[in-house]
Amino acid sequence: MELQAKGHTFWSEIAPLPGFSYEDIDDVYFWLDQNGRGVEQELHLNKNMDEADILAKAPPSVQFGISTLFHSLRAWCEQKPLFQYLNPEAQRGMPVNATLGFDTPEKAAQKVKDLHRKGFRTFKLKVGKDIHAECDLIQHIKKNFPEVNIRLDANRAWDFRQAIENLKLLEHFAPEYCEEPLSNPDPESLAQLRDNTEIPLAADESVRSPNDVQKLISQKSVDVLILKPMLLGSVTIIREITELAASHHIPCIFTSTLDAGIVRLLTAHLSAALGSPGYACGVATGSLFRQDVFSDEHFIIDGRLQLGTTSEPDRFFESDPRRLNL
Ligand SMILES: [Mg+2]
Repeated sequence: MELQAKGHTFWSEIAPLPGFSYEDIDDVYFWLDQNGRGVEQELHLNKNMDEADILAKAPPSVQFGISTLFHSLRAWCEQKPLFQYLNPEAQRGMPVNATLGFDTPEKAAQKVKDLHRKGFRTFKLKVGKDIHAECDLIQHIKKNFPEVNIRLDANRAWDFRQAIENLKLLEHFAPEYCEEPLSNPDPESLAQLRDNTEIPLAADESVRSPNDVQKLISQKSVDVLILKPMLLGSVTIIREITELAASHHIPCIFTSTLDAGIVRLLTAHLSAALGSPGYACGVATGSLFRQDVFSDEHFIIDGRLQLGTTSEPDRFFESDPRRLNL
């Protein structure tokens, strides 16, 4: 999606993720068809587009796309990169995590070695298939790279009893946290599990709105929130969530939802501005794409975000050999 204004082109994407987003791409086209003109009429620089009635009723991915375009335009008018416009205190650098698929311990150790050489120090591992093999894998990684930080994501694989048993086995490795351990992730069950494990628990799929976050906080269900902007909506809603979490000392970690380059870059800016400093964000997923508009290497250097100037992403489009023609 592009917006031409003030002699510049601004970019965003609306990319609902099948199986995760409530809406699908047909819903998005229908909404845009019905409301496209109304959005154009509402677009004023001196009014926060996120608060327009028309956008408040849009599906989250539509809200995200239109809101980030609007804020990119405003940032440009202030001659600031998006992250700095959103938070004048924000730093352009922030650690990024690498994600490992399930592999043999030897293969995984080789991957960690390569990624470690590229500067990554936080590694996210999917668990939930074969706990003993997963423990062997983590043990192998920790033996070879004792200083690396391990994050786990169980993607709702376990019932309550399995979660207690498996987290007990994983405690030994002192992971940073485990995402979505429970197949039935109601806030009460998560709170009960939290009382029975030393591993901090993180909510990912369970976070769709400020209301969800309020429930998780009031039930003391989680230690960490994983935020996927495409599933949440406008920048204003995302900021509401991060402010709510911060007021309860719960860190927020931004990650992409298998998004292409434009959204990964926007998520990186949101992370630098609104994410919790010191926690690696999860935007290094570009290698999963065979073709893309531009690759991660433009904004992730030495395992850290390196966000630049207001001319992003235009200069990335031009210089990337893997780019698609837009
Ligand atoms: Mg997850």
